Amino acid sequence: MAFEGLTDRLQKALTGLKRKGKVTEADLRDSLREIRLALLDADVNYTVVKEFIRNVRDKANGAKVLEGLNPAQQIVSIVNDEMVAMMGEEAVSLNKAPKIPTVIMMVGLQGAGKTTTAGKLAKKLKDEQDARPLMIAADVYRPAAIEQLKTLGAQIDVPVFDQGVDVDPREIVRAGMALAREQKNDYVFIDAAGRLQIDEALMQELADIKAIAQPDEIMLVVDAMTGQNATETAQGFNERLGLTGITLTKLDGDTRGGAALSIRAVTGTPIKFVGQGEKLTDLDVFYPDRMASRILGMGDILTLIEKTQKEYDEKQAQATMEKMKENSFDFNDFLTQMEQVQNMGPMEDLIKMIPGMANNPALKNVKIDPKDMAHLKAIVYSMTPAERENPDLLTPSRRRRLAAGAGRPIVEVNRMIKQFNEMKKMMSSVLNGNMAGMEQMMGA
Ligand code: GDP
Repeated sequence: MAFEGLTDRLQKALTGLKRKGKVTEADLRDSLREIRLALLDADVNYTVVKEFIRNVRDKANGAKVLEGLNPAQQIVSIVNDEMVAMMGEEAVSLNKAPKIPTVIMMVGLQGAGKTTTAGKLAKKLKDEQDARPLMIAADVYRPAAIEQLKTLGAQIDVPVFDQGVDVDPREIVRAGMALAREQKNDYVFIDAAGRLQIDEALMQELADIKAIAQPDEIMLVVDAMTGQNATETAQGFNERLGLTGITLTKLDGDTRGGAALSIRAVTGTPIKFVGQGEKLTDLDVFYPDRMASRILGMGDILTLIEKTQKEYDEKQAQATMEKMKENSFDFNDFLTQMEQVQNMGPMEDLIKMIPGMANNPALKNVKIDPKDMAHLKAIVYSMTPAERENPDLLTPSRRRRLAAGAGRPIVEVNRMIKQFNEMKKMMSSVLNGNMAGMEQMMGA
């Protein structure tokens, strides 16, 4: 999980203060020193850290925080505000041209996630705005790139224009743009070439493509895991091309987080999206305030709610609620529920978005094994349709059959059915407004 080390250390620095009723100047100095080291170790750019610490100190002194009420709380709030400011205050949306097509040029080093992000963005526009994008395959140096883009295009049902690898990318872009105008596509994505590192030939080619396509958005895709390098890459591309937006990928990985914190301050270019997984739906709008909350271990409840809403089928959820209320929730519903939850991503990541949970020591090493879910599903799949609808049919001999069918021990089958029945009872109680029922269940 991203930011783990940073969150830990920031929390330590700040809870140290919170424990004290009165905060002295020396306490503040110590905490700021710890925050500074934590940020540097997380690969935040040196100049950015220096300015951050100076701003926090100035604000704390200016507002005479140490003499006021709740100094520790106020300092936490200043740190939070500064972190939001460093990342850009508000979410910034994708640029849009006054007339069609809006042209989005994707640039970045090889392996950053450029092609994948083009697909994710095209899908997002299609799903949210009914857009009709065209993707242009202009990376002719990595032959697999064109195939990859075509496969992506087929998955999301977005056409891909390509002319193979023997045509100059400038020509490809020219022809692709003409086609998009003719077909009245509302968005054009140009998947331009990447390299292992910035070089002059690449930059010249990208500058030429920019001149030809006149993009409304030049989106740099950078890998958050590359730490300081991500910031340097962004600076390099920005100086030469004038970036308009950045997508940070692989925030689902073990990144220390420095890139998220410094890239905006160093380049002045907003981070617009973050990639948080390999699936085509794993792209989120970047909200500086939510990211700050997450980094400070205060959770990200808004994103959690949005994820739930996005993945949850509203009608389905209503129907399930009704069934729970009537106490007729069955194993078919159970399967659907489980699948919906699985679609939202790894459970441990979801839990960490709940305020206070990110660094809860009890959850430190929680790993919810997708295998456990798979075992539960295997048991349900071994049931006959009648058994799924009516769990009361599950006599001991039938349970033995399920165990054999799913290849799981009988105790596991028994435990699952018991938990299912308890959950069902509790849900029905709660939904019928009987809190006493629930308290009883929880042993209160
Ligand atoms: P390109 O060379 O910049 O076009 O990079 P690709 O789009 O081919 O991506 C390189 C690898 O990174 C692929 O295996 C992608 O699945 C993976 N990838 C891209 N974005 C993300 C992300 O947000 N999270 C994770 N975990 N993997 C990603």
